[in-house]
Amino acid sequence: MRLTELAHQEIKKFLKHGDRVIDATAGNGYDTQFLANLVGSEGVVFAFDIQKESIEESTRLIENAGLSNQVIFLHSCHSKISITLPDELIATIRVVTFNLGYLPGGNKELITKPETTLSALIQAYDYLTEDGIISLIVYRGHPGGQDEYDQLEKLMKKKNWAFKKSTGNQSHDCPVLFLIRKT
Ligand code: SAH
Repeated sequence: MRLTELAHQEIKKFLKHGDRVIDATAGNGYDTQFLANLVGSEGVVFAFDIQKESIEESTRLIENAGLSNQVIFLHSCHSKISITLPDELIATIRVVTFNLGYLPGGNKELITKPETTLSALIQAYDYLTEDGIISLIVYRGHPGGQDEYDQLEKLMKKKNWAFKKSTGNQSHDCPVLFLIRKT
């Protein structure tokens, strides 16, 4: 099973209608769409992406799927979660998804970077509900990917966060899914 599917399977067990969630890397909008369907019309997905093309592409997808009412797009770096989302939302977000690396078929120069990814992850954790989860897919095959992975794992250990790790296959640079559970 692909890691994206595995992540979806875990999230599905967990999310309820009316929940609030964050998609920290909207990309082509597939995760945003998946989340928007699960939270339903009473819920909300805050979808971040730093790339204008991603926001445009995802907005199209969400509009065509008739899900615009439950998605708020934020054309912003995910390291600005706490200055973009109001403080009232702290501890109210049930799930946060990250799908790192670059946009498939897009600009390969525009990749997630450890400094902003780590900052975003720390902020995302604050916004989670007491029983919230973060799904984080990390790619190690592109330049800088392994370093981003190492720094993320180090941070999670330092913070003493509870997390489960699944790998795509056995190769040393395969993608990795981290599921971080707040409690
Ligand atoms: N590699 C994944 C897709 C990743 S898409 C896969 O194969 O499925 C990653 C998205 O993160 C891209 O759309 C990119 O624009 C976005 N991104 C990169 N840096 C970001 C940042 N600092 N803040 C928010 N989004 C960012």
